[in-house]
Amino acid sequence: MPDFDYDLFVIGAGSGGVRAARTAAATGARVAVAEDRYLGGTCVNVGCVPKKLYSYAAHFQEAFGDADGFGWSLPEAPTFDWATLRDNKTREINRLNEIYGRLLESAGVTLIEGRAKVLDPHRVEVAGTVHSAAKILVAVGGWPWVPEFPGREHTLTSNEIFDLDTFPKRFLVLGGGYIAVEFASIFNGLGSESHLVYRGELFLRGFDREVREFTREQMEERGVRLHFETNIESIEKGESGLTVSLTNGETLEVDAVLAATGRKPHLQGLGLDTLGVELNSDGTVHANERHETSIPSILALGDVTGGPELTPVALAEAMHLVRCHFSDDTPPPLDYSHIATAVFCHPNIGTVGLSEEQARERYAAIRVYRTDFKPMKHSLSNSRARCLMKLIVDDESDVVVGAHMVGDEAGEVIQGIAIAVKAGLTKADFDATIGIHPTGAEEFVTMRTPTRR
Ligand code: NDP
Repeated sequence: MPDFDYDLFVIGAGSGGVRAARTAAATGARVAVAEDRYLGGTCVNVGCVPKKLYSYAAHFQEAFGDADGFGWSLPEAPTFDWATLRDNKTREINRLNEIYGRLLESAGVTLIEGRAKVLDPHRVEVAGTVHSAAKILVAVGGWPWVPEFPGREHTLTSNEIFDLDTFPKRFLVLGGGYIAVEFASIFNGLGSESHLVYRGELFLRGFDREVREFTREQMEERGVRLHFETNIESIEKGESGLTVSLTNGETLEVDAVLAATGRKPHLQGLGLDTLGVELNSDGTVHANERHETSIPSILALGDVTGGPELTPVALAEAMHLVRCHFSDDTPPPLDYSHIATAVFCHPNIGTVGLSEEQARERYAAIRVYRTDFKPMKHSLSNSRARCLMKLIVDDESDVVVGAHMVGDEAGEVIQGIAIAVKAGLTKADFDATIGIHPTGAEEFVTMRTPTRR
């Protein structure tokens, strides 16, 4: 066995890389991590964490609006200060960066600053120094991708949007995925005139159709301006802001444009192309069930491999990878079915399992239980917010194969329901569960009559 500097050399200190490094080190492996940007990767720095903090900030507007029905009167109209939110967010993220550093240090992982380049199956160069390792883990994540159009240079991506110097009073987001609906909602809630431009007929492609339609109604109700079946043709910068010309002939004047048009693997300069590491057709790194690339000593996980781009997936892959490569265990392949997810648009979406459309394709007969209602909280407010809940059941086995919610704290509610769906529980099990009253979530165990088959 050749003598290497490390047993595992991780490239990228994002959620997946850090978890793999710490977990491998806990088995006694000698581990190093190279990172050229910030500890914690996209999720901690320019993704999930700051996004959720900004989403909380945006929800206050609704709360202020709801308050007077409950007897509260605000002495004057509340005002919002962007710099306070932004700087408090930065302070919190700096704290998390330090925690990540301490976690690596206390696990005995060597942290190396700089962009790594893979030289061969066992050697990596960082800032002029060459390190050798039995295994190299590519956990470099993704990077925002923006399509070509005149004025593309005036767009921002999710890398910059959190740290704007000035608050955009008029905001436009291009795209119809997670980031687009979340930021359209966030800036709308913070007080911007907020536009979402999407090329398709309805955003959130792949989600349950009814969830998408309900979300559209509720986002419009809250004031987000949705422009579907159009795209950005060009952006011109003028004295009064950005003039965005759309392919449908419409022109919008805004202060900031966010391109939320997907992400690509962050492979530039990494050297994998020179080594001939196999890629998938979408440019992501091909990895097998043991997270090995076409060069078996080079491993890969997380967003760079093109699976669901979700932090908990990268974490699960990291722990599975360590079981595969740094223990005597031979674990079964990771199970990617029934991964619950939340979209933090306003209202939130929580979902697990199949959409109604997917279930109709997969099963001979299904039952759909569906309800939408005015949450109790809004019986005293003037809000017109409603909540949608939906269960999809395979008629033959009675197994609940999908659960969907659009409404307050949908992610929190669906996380619990996800355990039942993952466990393959039946509608009879849901019916046998006595609800918690008064909650909205109790509807998930009280819907008795199928809405349709
Ligand atoms: P998504 O892949 O979710 O969405 C990209 C959007 O951009 C789609 O609506 C797509 O349209 C559109 N698009 C793609 N190419 C073009 C083009 N040339 N012109 C116009 N529109 C285009 O990417 P996001 O950037 O929103 O997010 C990246 C990933 O990050 C997500 O997939 C998700 O996995 C993860 N994420 C998760 C979050 C969460 O868990 N809450 C939050 C934020 C991100 P079309 O649908 O027609 O292809």
